[in-house]
Amino acid sequence: MKRDYYEVLGIPRDADTLRVKKAYRALARQLHPDVNDHDPEAEQKFKEATEAYEVLADDERRRIYDAYGHDGLRGGAQAGGFGGFTDLSDIFESFFGGDIFAGGRGARRSAAVRGDDVGLQIEIELEDAAFGTNREVEVELLDTCGECAGVGSTEASSIHECPECGGAGSVRTVRRTAFGQFVQSGPCPNCRGEGRVIEEPCDTCHGQGRAYRTKTLAVDIPAGISDGQRIRLNGQGAAGLRGGPPGDLYVQVAVAPHRHFTRQDDDVFYSLHLTMVQAALGVKVTVPTLDGEESVEFPPGTQPGEVKVLRARGVPRLRRSGRGDQHIMVNVMIPRDLTGEQKDLLGEFDSCCGDEHYSRKHEGVFQRLKSFFGA
Ligand SMILES: [Zn+2]
Ligand SMILES: [Zn+2]
Repeated sequence: MKRDYYEVLGIPRDADTLRVKKAYRALARQLHPDVNDHDPEAEQKFKEATEAYEVLADDERRRIYDAYGHDGLRGGAQAGGFGGFTDLSDIFESFFGGDIFAGGRGARRSAAVRGDDVGLQIEIELEDAAFGTNREVEVELLDTCGECAGVGSTEASSIHECPECGGAGSVRTVRRTAFGQFVQSGPCPNCRGEGRVIEEPCDTCHGQGRAYRTKTLAVDIPAGISDGQRIRLNGQGAAGLRGGPPGDLYVQVAVAPHRHFTRQDDDVFYSLHLTMVQAALGVKVTVPTLDGEESVEFPPGTQPGEVKVLRARGVPRLRRSGRGDQHIMVNVMIPRDLTGEQKDLLGEFDSCCGDEHYSRKHEGVFQRLKSFFGA
């Protein structure tokens, strides 16, 4: 049983269009498949809400629905892609700042179809993520047909307006039955909803105006990007149909694990190993940073778990000024497999060094470890 559209969106029957949009927008945020790990129940509800929205936000369909209920729309539902989720990309857009609700859809819909959004993933190094880079990516997608330039035929004179529907692509019939009057709108059988007929369709795209092609695109990766973030290339997705705009291309960035650093937000963390003697006597060592090697001094009596911070040696902040820090955590190494002579020397040291020289700040170490790993 189909639920009532007003009930689906949780709005009264006299709700204005703005209210319909608001209710749908709120539901879409909550139920979008990408937000719900494609939970089938949420996906079902999302489709239901989308269908309700597409009807109630369209004055004409809403009038038909109000008058005849779901039956009144049945014929129209198949016309021109309405009710299909070919247009999920539009909804998707609302999550990325585009406004799917701007401008009138309605009449335009039955003809033009926006191209699909296309996604791909690239992997980059942490240094590239930190300082930005340019990449060329190859993507195979439905693009405007190169053979006919998207027209559908290389012979312009072989394309005619469909005489059956006058180019509209759909035909509307009113049927009166014992149960009431049904308004049906379906795709024109002569042109299959295209609004035009092509006598000699293009060999490459068979009159569709688009064909699969491998495109090479330059992607500008901004400094400070994080693992999992997406870059949108406007209008670089699949070509639209019948004059519809192209979709977008989403490039998801994966940042490869680094041999030295782990990253948390804009900070990088580095684990430094000192021998117990270096830690006790103090030492100047060279450590890697994102900008190259840097000399860092540790004072005598450096303890395990101590953290030294190199200010502004982390990752530049995405689209802002400033950088994160580099945190260096000290790990003190204890020797093993000692020779007899080495054992004697250490034993001698131990007998002349009272334990008052040792630090007992173990809690301190755990605290630092916790903050180091962001707990
Ligand atoms: Zn073609
Ligand atoms: Zn037609």
